[in-house]
Amino acid sequence: MQKILVTRSSMPSYEEYIEKIKPLWDSHWLTNMGVYHNEFESKLMKKMSTKNISLFTNGHMALELAIKALGLTGEVITTPFTFVSTTHAIVRNGLKPVFCDISLEDYTIDVTKIEGLITERTSAIIPVHVYGHVCDVDAIQEIADKYGLKVIYDAAHAFGETYNGKSIANYGDMSMFSFHATKVFNSIEGGAVAYNNHDYKTKLENLKNFGICSEEEVEVVAPNAKMNEFQAAMGLCNLEHLDGEIAKRKKVFDTYMERLDGVKGIQLWKLKENLEYNYAYLPVVFNEKEFPHNRNDIYEKLKSREIYARKYFYPLTNKVSCYKEYAENTELKNAEYVADRILALPMYADLEIEDVHRICDIILDIK
Ligand SMILES: *Cc1c(COP(=O)(O)O)cnc(C)c1O
Repeated sequence: MQKILVTRSSMPSYEEYIEKIKPLWDSHWLTNMGVYHNEFESKLMKKMSTKNISLFTNGHMALELAIKALGLTGEVITTPFTFVSTTHAIVRNGLKPVFCDISLEDYTIDVTKIEGLITERTSAIIPVHVYGHVCDVDAIQEIADKYGLKVIYDAAHAFGETYNGKSIANYGDMSMFSFHATKVFNSIEGGAVAYNNHDYKTKLENLKNFGICSEEEVEVVAPNAKMNEFQAAMGLCNLEHLDGEIAKRKKVFDTYMERLDGVKGIQLWKLKENLEYNYAYLPVVFNEKEFPHNRNDIYEKLKSREIYARKYFYPLTNKVSCYKEYAENTELKNAEYVADRILALPMYADLEIEDVHRICDIILDIK
């Protein structure tokens, strides 16, 4: 039987991509804001109904430079229940991450615990729409307005979603999206920052291009984080198929729900009302007191049958060795509970429904 990994990249047909990149052999223009880069940007603006988009070579650089563009200082309140990139982006900007606990319901930042962490050094909140589960965006904005804080969403998982009829890209000051190969939508590697305030446009453009602001002037020390034409071409091809891919993911999601929802000791995330979800992930929390197996057992059981789920997100980012100074935060009870029990099951558009049943059978000890 074929190996099943936790995810599998969406791709256009070989012919479609080759056709798309052919003109690059005529133009010899491979990167530095080429034709495809610009076309991708404008198509994304439409798709995400946002006023401004800046593209980057990957999501991480997009987030890191979004933080830099906003000129944040001091402390940033964030979540430890995320990919390490979120924390790295804060720390690599010379800022201190202040970890806030998460909600047990959807694993996003617990908005009732944010205010208690605000100090005079706090400059921003960086929440994560983890698994594409939308944060409590209204409560977060209320707190940000009350204390004069900026909000940048790590929306790496949330591409294509709308909440309350509004594109997910339009919440907070900025949102970062990742187009990494493992995400719902990819440009091989790639990322974007979406924002409503046009004043940041030039700043972000310069920040991704060594800080160069004119032919003879460099205003700020910055890296190279530009998206190239081959990435943009892949993004443009994949964008054509996005709705179909999400529809296929929904079928996989619904099958998992049919099989696992309501089983004692298994906690699933319930689709939030007013959220048009992108079906990015299938995280399951196994409560070892009510379910015969704990998370690690299930992980091993699946692995022994060549099915590779992921302990995602585990460990919490404050527990990895480079952040050991933050390891002892006793206020992260929910995050610790979830990280120790969560397993992301295989989830991708081309996952066969019969394989979903097979995975559920293994989890439920059937057969
Ligand atoms: C994937 C991811 C990133 C980083 O995006 P890349 O495109 O891989 O650089 C950041 N945050 C989260 C939550 C992610 O899942």
